[in-house]
Parts: sequence; C-alpha cells; structure tokens
Amino acid sequence: MPDKKFNFDHDLRGKVEKLFKSANSSQKEFVSWLYDLATHDEKTGLYNMKFFENILNMEIEKASRNQEKLSIFMIDIDFFKKINDKYGHMKADEFLVRLSKLLKKKLRTPDVIARFGGEEFIILLPQTDLDKAKIITSRLRDSIKSDSILMKYGLTVSGGLTEYKQGDTEKSLKERVDRALYKAKQTGRDKFVAFD
Ligand code: GH3
Ligand code: MG
Ligand code: MG
Repeated sequence: MPDKKFNFDHDLRGKVEKLFKSANSSQKEFVSWLYDLATHDEKTGLYNMKFFENILNMEIEKASRNQEKLSIFMIDIDFFKKINDKYGHMKADEFLVRLSKLLKKKLRTPDVIARFGGEEFIILLPQTDLDKAKIITSRLRDSIKSDSILMKYGLTVSGGLTEYKQGDTEKSLKERVDRALYKAKQTGRDKFVAFD
C-alpha cells in the first residue's frame, strides 16, 4: 500500500523540487531518474497519461479560476494495424518514435504531449484558444504530411481539437475531443476536426 506521506498523484513536480533542495548530487541524479521513469512513456519518450492527467487537472483549475484559455488536441495514426501488418511491429514502432519526435519539435515548450496509449497521442495547449489552436495544429499537420519518412510509408494521422469552456471537467473535455477525433475518422481520416 502506498505511503500516504508520498501521494504523488498531485503536483509531483512540486514534491520533487522540494526533495531537491536538501539532496546531494547523487541523490538528485537518482530522484531525477525516478521522476523521468514515473512521468514518461518508455517507447516514445513522451509524457505518460498519469503525468498528463495531473497537469490537465491543474490547467482546468487555472482556466476556471482565472478565465484562462486552454485547448486539447488528440491524434490517432490512421490504419496503424495495417501498417503493422505490412511493415512489421519493429518498423511500425519506428514510426511511432518518428511521429513523437516531430510532435516535440514542432509544438511549443509549454505544450504537454503525452502518449494516450497505442498509436494515440494527446496534447494540452495551455493559454491557447480554439482559433490559435487551429493555426498551431494546421502547421503541425503540414509538417507531418511533409515528413520524408512518414510520407514514404504512406502514414497519415487524424486529429480532434477542442477548447475549454467554463464548467468543463476533465471528463467532458476528453469526451468532446474524442468526438472530434471520431468525426475525423468517420469523414475520411487524414484530417483534423475542431469542435467548439
Ligand atoms: P484507425 O484508422 O481507425 O485508427 O485504424 P487503426 O488500425 O489505427 O486502429 P485500431 O485501433 O484498429 O488498431 C490500432 C493498432 O495499433 C493495433 C495495434 O496493432 C497497433 N499498436 C498499438 N500500440 C502499438 C505499439 O506500441 N507498437 C506497434 N507497432 N503497434 C501498436
Ligand atoms: Mg486508435
Ligand atoms: Mg489508429
């Protein structure tokens, strides 16, 4: 049973920063290794969902308290099962890593990019309204579509986009972004759909 003193479900970064203050250099190294392990997805190097949800809840709270903007974006690789069948699991894994690197390179520093699971990614765009998010994700789409490797193997992605509205919860935001992504899939894939 986890020790109640170390409830890492909330503000993990804050707790790690506190630990750092009294740690020597080898303890710091160990703590930062543990922090990375606890917060990242091993295959892609992106954040994991536990970390993402932690940050999302904090950002929702900020948005509701201070009327700040917040957008959420989800990406799902099209027909990835077929990609696996055609090129094998190892090669398909390389595409996952390639796309992850591209997301990191093309999105902004404050954007939180996580592996949602399998071939799905979720991105939090803090202080970003839907219009701005549309511009950012449209640029990202251009980069994905012109990536030499992804293009060579015919890899495309679908995306869903939405913004925080007063009264939204983590659940309602995620449901709306999921519906936007579903619409992109249902209406032909290889496109991004935004829901108000
Ligand atoms: P859609 O366009 O509707 O999203 O089709 P899809 O084939 O991408 O979707 P589906 O959910 O049917 O299949 C997802 C596939 O992604 C199934 C699984 O083989 C593959 N996949 C999930 N995680 C990994 C992974 O870590 N590595 C590899 N290589 N494949 C994965
Ligand atoms: Mg999927
Ligand atoms: Mg898919």
